[in-house]
Amino acid sequence: MRTSIATVSLSGSLTEKLTAASRAGFDGVEIFENDLLASPLTPEEIRARCADLGLSIDLYQPMRDIEAVPPEEFARNLRRAHHKFELMGRLGADTVLVCSSVSPLARDDDALAAAQLCQLADLAQGFGIRVAYEALAWGRHVNTYDHAWRIVEAAGHPALGTCLDSFHILARGSDPKDLEGIADIPGEKIFFLQLADAPLMAMDVLQWSRHYRCFPGQGGLDVTGLLRHVIAAGYQGPLSLEIFNDVFRQAEAGPTAIDAHRSLLVLQEAAGLAPLPAPVVPTGAAFVELVTVDAEPASALLGALGFARTARHRSKPVDLWQQGEARILVNLGPAARRHGTFLAAVGLESPDPAGAARRAEALLAPVLPRRRAPEDAPLDAVAAPDGTELFFVATVATVATVATVATNGMNRTNRAVAEVATGIANQPELPDWRADFVDVPHHDATPHGVTRIDHLALTQPWHEFDEAVLFHRGVLGLHAQECVDVADPYGLHRSRAVSNPDGSVRIALGVGAAPTDDGARAQHIALATDDVVATARAFRAAGGRLLTVPANYHDDLAAQYEFADGELETYRELGILYDRDAHGEFRHCYTDTVGRVFFELVQRDGGYRGYGARNAPVRLAAQHAVR
Ligand code: MG
Ligand code: MG
Repeated sequence: MRTSIATVSLSGSLTEKLTAASRAGFDGVEIFENDLLASPLTPEEIRARCADLGLSIDLYQPMRDIEAVPPEEFARNLRRAHHKFELMGRLGADTVLVCSSVSPLARDDDALAAAQLCQLADLAQGFGIRVAYEALAWGRHVNTYDHAWRIVEAAGHPALGTCLDSFHILARGSDPKDLEGIADIPGEKIFFLQLADAPLMAMDVLQWSRHYRCFPGQGGLDVTGLLRHVIAAGYQGPLSLEIFNDVFRQAEAGPTAIDAHRSLLVLQEAAGLAPLPAPVVPTGAAFVELVTVDAEPASALLGALGFARTARHRSKPVDLWQQGEARILVNLGPAARRHGTFLAAVGLESPDPAGAARRAEALLAPVLPRRRAPEDAPLDAVAAPDGTELFFVATVATVATVATVATNGMNRTNRAVAEVATGIANQPELPDWRADFVDVPHHDATPHGVTRIDHLALTQPWHEFDEAVLFHRGVLGLHAQECVDVADPYGLHRSRAVSNPDGSVRIALGVGAAPTDDGARAQHIALATDDVVATARAFRAAGGRLLTVPANYHDDLAAQYEFADGELETYRELGILYDRDAHGEFRHCYTDTVGRVFFELVQRDGGYRGYGARNAPVRLAAQHAVR
């Protein structure tokens, strides 16, 4: 379907907003009156600019406090409308949004409202304009979509229809059954559809709407369900985003517009309106790449953790460090100058790397050039919103595992995955990133029990948090857990984890104060071990430093849980933190930080699903104290 966005959803001047909307692929815009009033461009120039950018002006808004008022007041309103309709003619906009009145002058009189809206529509029709009447959730007398529709129906004017707004409808928390009436509205009388999501919050609905709206899929409202009803009604107009959000108002318009358009692509897929290349869910973490100007600190840390330098890139200064199935590349790259050591890339094992890249591209992810040197394996890679490069790689392990699933039958989904995998296994030229590496002799490290990468924790720029979650869900097909708030000595962290079904890919996306030397966004790599005590001891014996945890923390643990004799003393000694959920237990500790990066050692037992979020405030305070 055609896509549109209200100019109020983006930051900057009207020109910047229009450019960003066009570049992100929108077909049209809603011109928000304040943006027009603040623009030095004439309506004719705005119209021309939109035409140049390939944007239609789908709506002019808002017109407020029109209906159900005393006659003398309504006469003034018609004069105001006359002026706006002339302006819309110059702008080339053919639909105006009229919100249900919040005026103290408005009467609770549907017949009067219908009669006056009918007169307004008569005036509009003379200008070739249609009036879309929308129920604000806080409208004085009209605040539900069905009430607005009853008035429109009673008015019975061809130039009067209704505008449905997902926020106003869903924010009232009405029974899903109440939404079924939408499908009974004649499609051609739904003049416009505005889409917004919002996180579920207990607060005044006006404040909620003005500050916290977000793009569909980024909040907790069932926008997809609502869209299905509107489509069932026969609606043919554009899908238009109308987002009032404090963060988007400050963030750069270009990336926000892309995030916005991506949300509509994901929404249309979810509602069955426009298919995308199917999600290819990653099946494991193949590697993590650190880029640094000085490989020594990172190498020393990896060595103490029990990693061995097992291979070297044949043409670049990149070392492969490995322990169990955990692989970390240390890249002595020039890009690091700005950042110190940082996590630059993640290799995701994929049953169909090219398919994963196709979906990412369809969802507007920047596709990265396929590797730098001609002899390198051509890997499919895209950039996440925070700039982290995501490589989709097939490994022998992936292919073998999935092929086993194929031979075992399993359910239909697995069979489909297996067919892809078998197809891949039959392609002899399938690029293998490890073919770029030449083994080096290594005898210098004894493994310390690290088995694989448990999770990555990537701090996002504050204004990209919701976008990052939608990106990882929509592009990578990962499942998002609930959002968690974590207190930090210097602020509040928000964190939301995304993972694949078996937990072999877990990424904790966070936002908040950074406990790093240069204030840069912290990133950490959590390494799984079956015995965190043994691994931590071996790390320390090899010269590694563990983060010191205050005694008060372990005193409190003693109050909450019973431990075996000596267990808590061991945790105190090593700085091990503890958590428990309905499924199992979690023990974890932290190394010191190199550049932006630190490591966590984690032991999950009995199917524990979390990330030790309750311990994060203690960890963050301890990291700030080290600085
Ligand atoms: Mg609206
Ligand atoms: Mg962690």
